[in-house]
Amino acid sequence: MTPQFDNSYARLPDRFFARTNPTPVGNPGLIAVNAGLARELGLDTDWLTSSDGIAALAGNAVPDGAEPLSQAYAGHQFGGWVPQLGDGRAVLLGEVIDSNGIRRDIQLKGSGRTPFSRGGDGRAWIGPVIREYVMSEAMHALGIPTTRALAAVTTGEVIHRERALPGAVLTRVASSHIRVGTFQYFAARKDVEALQALAHHVIQRHYPDAASALELLEHVIARQAKLIAHWASVGFIHGVMNTDNAHIAGETIDYGPCAFMDEYHPDTVYSSIDQFGRYAYSNQPNIAVWNMAQLATALLPLIDEDMDTAVEKATQAVHRFPDIFHTAWLDLFRAKIGLTGAETGDKALIDGLLTRMATVKADFTNTFRALAEGRGAQAFPDAVAFESWAPDWQARLSRETGDPQALMRATNPAVIPRNHRVEEVIEAALGDDFAPFHSLNSVLATPFELRPKNGAYANPPKPEQVVHQTFCGT
Ligand code: AMP
Ligand code: MG
Repeated sequence: MTPQFDNSYARLPDRFFARTNPTPVGNPGLIAVNAGLARELGLDTDWLTSSDGIAALAGNAVPDGAEPLSQAYAGHQFGGWVPQLGDGRAVLLGEVIDSNGIRRDIQLKGSGRTPFSRGGDGRAWIGPVIREYVMSEAMHALGIPTTRALAAVTTGEVIHRERALPGAVLTRVASSHIRVGTFQYFAARKDVEALQALAHHVIQRHYPDAASALELLEHVIARQAKLIAHWASVGFIHGVMNTDNAHIAGETIDYGPCAFMDEYHPDTVYSSIDQFGRYAYSNQPNIAVWNMAQLATALLPLIDEDMDTAVEKATQAVHRFPDIFHTAWLDLFRAKIGLTGAETGDKALIDGLLTRMATVKADFTNTFRALAEGRGAQAFPDAVAFESWAPDWQARLSRETGDPQALMRATNPAVIPRNHRVEEVIEAALGDDFAPFHSLNSVLATPFELRPKNGAYANPPKPEQVVHQTFCGT
């Protein structure tokens, strides 16, 4: 009934983590259990939703076989080095092997203070918990690598932020919770033995084909490049691409002030704390390169005994990022305009569309979806902009052999977690109404098909509904 834990991180040296039990809460209540994910993990939904299960999800009881720990890591936050971060509000309960034979972490987030909490309370309020649940499950449904949400519970306790808010705990599932910042933590301490052990662990777990630290670096770079291209293809802005939020296996992790764009513009920023646009939509690939350079630096002692040789090899690996990114980006955007074949003019054709979209402030999601549904002109606030592009596109499509419409319908989502919808759901949850949260999740589970009765979920915000800023909201 309870999870069959098979823990490997807990076998790593003591200095990788602190053994930390979750702090019990006053009055746990179930918000949601993700039955599909539970099945994948071999977990019993009846148990998860029972009072014993809810107690485990709230951190009030530690299930048999769990070995709760908070992980140590460091990171660059907005470019500034922080030598110690770590799980300040999360504990890893342990790992299970899923139905595909893949090792998955089960982590409680918002489960109380840890030795890494610094000034924080180790808690989360219901807003960020619901936000991460909705966003991460939507991302998964879009086919983009991400951490998952297994469950959300309320704590019955009050959290003090700008005001008093209800507390909650998210159960997060990930292929691991290892970050670029985990490597940086040990590199900064010149702990080569730990670096070696971590590299070994990551290779075994995520990149069994990698025969060396250099190959490990190359694999991580390729995964990150493809991930950032995927984000671009759905208009996603992570918002806090710090190295401690850069997942070593290329999953989207740490959904803070993230957002899906409504109107397209490459400079778009939502996060209230990103004053200089470091993590703007179009800057995400540059930042990912920067993050990969930090990983490369951390791995240098493992790459070659001779520092100059190590630097040269690592630099070459990092310099491969742009090519991998652009290839992935072009593949994804070709599909978005219905192309399976490749011609040299394709990049210019796609850029031509994006430039026009930015000029007329077209809705990112709905423009591409409209192309899929053969009503492109309607998606443009200014039809002239579309008509100046459409003939080139039609000419290009005439040289395609496949079914562009079907490809575009399978590639361009009809529905994404729009910011105003997410806000609406959080607002309702604050009044103890979780029905909008469940409805939104169920619509987002099949983003490429939208039943007519759910049509409103595809609507862009009305002027008074536009969300201009998102907040970290820990
Ligand atoms: P984030 O930017 O949300 O990924 O968090 C950055 C760091 O701050 C991580 O080490 C978190 O564990 C820590 N942190 C965030 N919120 C809290 C909190 N309420 N209590 C303790 N630590 C926190
Ligand atoms: Mg983080």
